Amino acid sequence: MKAHIVTLPGDGVGPEVTAAAVAVLEAVAARYGHEFSFDEQAIGGCAIDAFGEPLPAAALAACKQADAVLLGAVGGPKWSDPNAPVRPEQGLLALRAALGVYANLRPLQVHPALAALSPLKNEKLKNVDVLFVRELTGGAYFGAKTRTADTATDECKYTVAEVERVVRRAFDLARDRHRHVTSVDKANVLETSRLWRSTVQRIAADYPDVKVEHQLVDSMAMLLLTQPSRYDVVVTENLFGDILTDEAAALAGSLGLLPSASLGEGRNGLYEPIHGSAPDIAGQNVANPTGAILSAAMLLRHSLQLEAEAAAIEAAVDQVLSQGPHTRDIGGQASTTQLRDAVLAAFEEHADTAEAFFSGARACG
Ligand code: NAD
Repeated sequence: MKAHIVTLPGDGVGPEVTAAAVAVLEAVAARYGHEFSFDEQAIGGCAIDAFGEPLPAAALAACKQADAVLLGAVGGPKWSDPNAPVRPEQGLLALRAALGVYANLRPLQVHPALAALSPLKNEKLKNVDVLFVRELTGGAYFGAKTRTADTATDECKYTVAEVERVVRRAFDLARDRHRHVTSVDKANVLETSRLWRSTVQRIAADYPDVKVEHQLVDSMAMLLLTQPSRYDVVVTENLFGDILTDEAAALAGSLGLLPSASLGEGRNGLYEPIHGSAPDIAGQNVANPTGAILSAAMLLRHSLQLEAEAAAIEAAVDQVLSQGPHTRDIGGQASTTQLRDAVLAAFEEHADTAEAFFSGARACG
């Protein structure tokens, strides 16, 4: 397969972890006979420095033409003055809106070898396997804003169509998992939540094979800590999703471990680790590249429909998390590049074993 991938390394540790993910994608292409071309573009603070804007027109045009976009992270203290005319995060919000990627998927699993790093007790972490589906292009983040000396407002607005498309995506994803959707809202207080809930109830009728439950966001914040293994697919609006997914990420033990995919209607998607630019460790070759590498696996699965390749990367990461080496955030001493090399070695090993298995199966008729 031929695929054109735009990379947006961004700021801080973004370039370090993106380089590791690209190395893994190159290994996949070499091993499975694909042709992946890469085009690096600027976003965030480094784009403000170089071009005066966080998402230059050339970068946006390249992203729109791509089969998939792989992003590192944006932001950092250099660009965090609240009075600055432009900020790095504006580039990311504009990119999400321009690509129409309304569904943000964040899978959460707790690797048994890392359970001790989690703030929760080990017994609560068994069988945690949640897929969050967060609405990404509506709600308060994109509503009208006003500000006077003593008043500020952020409009939170949702249309039925905006709710319906992300909720349908969640139900479709649940059919490939444990067929259980939890919809999170604040329907006892907010009108947007009442619209959200009635839309979920209508759509649920089209999926009689999927169990659906509704949870208020304040209860959900508590239940994620007390019973995280109860959930399968959790779908919610933009602001609630932002907060709940970061809370849930803490369960995994390090922000550096988790990937995400942002999807719209077409094949193109935006893939990025959930962590930020980690300015405290940037440029030291110590950042954990696992979240970026697993984001590359999601890219293979969701934009390129290369399921076997995605699974091979995930198996390689799983082996490295089980056996080491580990970066500092997960209790080891390995560098970013050492962990990357260990994943590459494990990937080749898995691919060899899979090939031997299939050629053996062919020989046996
Ligand atoms: P952060 O995720 O950058 O860092 C939080 C903590 O986690 C830090 O101690 C950091 O060292 C650690 N960490 C993060 N990623 C790691 C990795 N891969 N390996 C090891 N440790 C890792 O969050 P923050 O400190 O709140 O934000 C820093 C900057 O990043 C801010 O400018 C913020 O706006 C930006 N940010 C960007 C994104 C994004 O690009 N999507 C997301 C969140 C924050």
